[in-house]
Amino acid sequence: MTSVGGAVPRWATRGDAVLRNVRVVDVVDGTVGPSTSILVRDGLIERIAEDASEGAQVPTADLDGAYVLPGLINMHTHFSLSLPGPSGADVEAFGEAGLALYMADGARRTLHSGVTTVRCVAEKGHADFALRRAIDAGWVQGPRIYTAGRALACTGGHGSGSDDTLECDGADAFTHGVRAQIKAGADLIKLMISGGIAGEHETISTPQLTRDEMAAAISTAHAWGRKVTAHAGPADVIAEAVSLGIDGIEHGYELTPDVCAAMAAQGTALVPTLVVTRASAFFDELGVPAWMQERSLGAGERHVASYRMALEAGVEVLLGSDMPPFWAFEGTTAVVRELEHMHAFGLDRAATLRAATLSPARWLGIDAQTGSIAVGKRADLIAMRGNPLDDISALRGIGMVMKNGVIVRDDRENE
Ligand SMILES: [Zn+2]
Repeated sequence: MTSVGGAVPRWATRGDAVLRNVRVVDVVDGTVGPSTSILVRDGLIERIAEDASEGAQVPTADLDGAYVLPGLINMHTHFSLSLPGPSGADVEAFGEAGLALYMADGARRTLHSGVTTVRCVAEKGHADFALRRAIDAGWVQGPRIYTAGRALACTGGHGSGSDDTLECDGADAFTHGVRAQIKAGADLIKLMISGGIAGEHETISTPQLTRDEMAAAISTAHAWGRKVTAHAGPADVIAEAVSLGIDGIEHGYELTPDVCAAMAAQGTALVPTLVVTRASAFFDELGVPAWMQERSLGAGERHVASYRMALEAGVEVLLGSDMPPFWAFEGTTAVVRELEHMHAFGLDRAATLRAATLSPARWLGIDAQTGSIAVGKRADLIAMRGNPLDDISALRGIGMVMKNGVIVRDDRENE
């Protein structure tokens, strides 16, 4: 951030720059190009060439042979997450002002972890809309936000009891719930169609919405041009949602080959969030109760089996961390750990990188603007020393983050 004429500006929201001496990772064909440079003007990639900056008067960063990827897109984020336990109780007690500040801090740390776009899938108090506006205006730093507003659940259903869900009962109430989120500014709709890990009075396999409720929500959202995704565990509930045209499934703890085949046939994406059933250190840190720990870790084996079935059937899988993307976890961040799990349990490296970039961009309908490195797209870029096509854990070394042509993190300053 530069100061002009003594005035302190907002965070820049678009920038000009040249990144020299970089190797571009092509997430479409899974290859790395020769050493090159990238010229960025007004937030967009203008040229990729050996000397892209020729004649251009723009700030230059020499990245010394670093590998450059499109910024990560995290499809399952909650900036206002409050799990059972003392840490979650603190979040619940913040009040509106405290919550907004806490979410702004999470947004900044998310961006700095290499995530340049997020999809929020249940946030408290509609503060996500204020946060989205503040980031777009340059009041605070954060990723580009696509958000569902509040998730819709039945009375007593998954996530209910906190302000990030709206309880609805009956088809009319779900129709109203969808319209209320869209009125507030929602880009998509999130439904809680089964139980989950963090609900004490349910099991993962508890079905929670009737067919009429799901049909009303999905058809209303689609009529308004919004996609719908659902927190979901068991296969029969998911099969019903897929038959009604749902666009995405979160977690999918208990999938079967049949429901995976239906998802693949319809193009329903899966955001597996594998990290949530193998995160005991994270839960310890938050002080979550024993029943939740047991349920989470107990579901881990079946969760991975479901994920493998989805890959086998050709279901499109997308990156989503559920826990805060930037959270320090097992020697890296939650978002990088999730990508390591996605690869370790069966997705090849190039496909893993696509699941974190171009595929989510397609789901969000923004692949013409971001998700790969190409002339005319937004300069949402991350750089690292190692080649992630040789080793996914190279992402642990993300040392530069650019959003819309603005370098928001540059570890060379600390070297
Ligand atoms: Zn979640």
